[in-house]
Amino acid sequence: MSESALKKTNQESYVIAPPAIVALPVEGSDDLFPVNRVFCIGRNYAAHAVEMGHDPDKEPPFFFFKSPSNIAVGEDFPYPSKTSDVHHEIELVVALEKGGTNISVDKALDHVYGYAVGLDMTRRDLQGEAKKMGRPWEVGKSFEKSAPCGPLVPAAKIGHPTEGEVTLDVNGERRQTGDLNQLIWKIPEMIAILSEYFELQPGDLIMTGTPSGVNAISKGDTMVGKVAGVGEITVKVV
Ligand code: MN
Repeated sequence: MSESALKKTNQESYVIAPPAIVALPVEGSDDLFPVNRVFCIGRNYAAHAVEMGHDPDKEPPFFFFKSPSNIAVGEDFPYPSKTSDVHHEIELVVALEKGGTNISVDKALDHVYGYAVGLDMTRRDLQGEAKKMGRPWEVGKSFEKSAPCGPLVPAAKIGHPTEGEVTLDVNGERRQTGDLNQLIWKIPEMIAILSEYFELQPGDLIMTGTPSGVNAISKGDTMVGKVAGVGEITVKVV
């Protein structure tokens, strides 16, 4: 190794402070799960596909990303800039402990560390404009604190959920209702398909899509999202 390469392994050699590692707490312990990438799947519940104006039939899945730095744990959700239509999307989050390419459906769950409850907060107006113009979705999807997330629950504790109610309440009123058994693309299928396009890595998260009932939030609202058998998350809009 050259002297300059060696120097780079020394923290003091970075020209700016390196970003902090984003991590999710593991429920019931002091352990942390370091987050690598955040994959999100679109239109993975038929009723949500319909409410967004699309066909409910099983089309090939499509994916987009959030940035790991968008994850917020135990924090309020600040109403973001440049939008007047921010929607909640309650989702099951899958956390991978092993990576790979071309992972088979029957081996896919061996790669899962655990599960969490997350929100895919969306600037729906900006996403809508992007869709219309054939532009990427990042301004609508991947902004600061756009991924509130609860603690990870190890699969070793709860197994791999295939059913369970998924709900989101705003100020005590039910907005979204679905069930994990309505996922169009199941968790093993999502992992297998993603691994055909990407080399999956330990620390990668997958946000698995939202059931119907997505709607706007306002400052002062309190969102409570639940996935039966996994947990719940409470987030205040400020
Ligand atoms: Mn979503």
